[in-house]
Amino acid sequence: MQSKQIIIAIDGFSSCGKSTVAKQVARILGYNYIDTGAMYRAITLFCLRNELIENQKVREDELINRLDDIHIEFRFNAELQRSETILNGENVEEEIRQLPVSENVSQVSTIGEVRKKMVRLQQEMGSKKGIVMDGRDIGTVVFPNAELKIFMTASPRVRAQRRYDELMGKGQEVSLDEIISNIEMRDHIDQTREESPLRRADDALILDNSHLTHEEQLQWVIDRVNKALENENCH
Ligand code: C5P
Repeated sequence: MQSKQIIIAIDGFSSCGKSTVAKQVARILGYNYIDTGAMYRAITLFCLRNELIENQKVREDELINRLDDIHIEFRFNAELQRSETILNGENVEEEIRQLPVSENVSQVSTIGEVRKKMVRLQQEMGSKKGIVMDGRDIGTVVFPNAELKIFMTASPRVRAQRRYDELMGKGQEVSLDEIISNIEMRDHIDQTREESPLRRADDALILDNSHLTHEEQLQWVIDRVNKALENENCH
């Protein structure tokens, strides 16, 4: 019997390793992986390039007027074996990960019209199921009926150290203090914004990975996926 396809929603704080686990799970299952943070980052890059942000303040009305000019999609790069973010036809995968975008993305993400557009797009991307989607509001707003919801967390210090190691590995000069303050700022804005704030869905399983290896986390998630699939296939 063909196994039913499900939606796996992975939410949680910044830099706690959601995308690493989500990508691996998607690969194992043959599902699509959607990085919703990349979509908010792409809009932020559009704002930075078009002078819609000044001193971390977004020109909200102008951005809302230009939302129809922003087209975001993902394209699979077979050589690098990864999905890449395309903004208006241009590959922006590297640029959206840099500090100027990280410093402004949470402000852009508070805007209701931006969220509405992104949520609609994400729901379309997942309409056929068979996806792993990570973000902040996937289990609460985008797919409240997802068959499996996971809420990932780790201590801010552990998250900052991981992010630091990752950026240094890519040759980007940053200080650990800069990263800690960026993570704390994003956590604060994400949790306190009015429009779909970051919170755990009541039925999401908590995965605190402060002291887990990659392999242990992956196994933890795969065990839950198998249970969710068993449940689905029984119905
Ligand atoms: O996941 P990542 O850290 O790349 O996300 C960047 C930012 O995008 C987050 O700090 C958050 O402000 C925003 N975001 C969001 N909702 C999502 C995904 C990301 O508000 N579903």
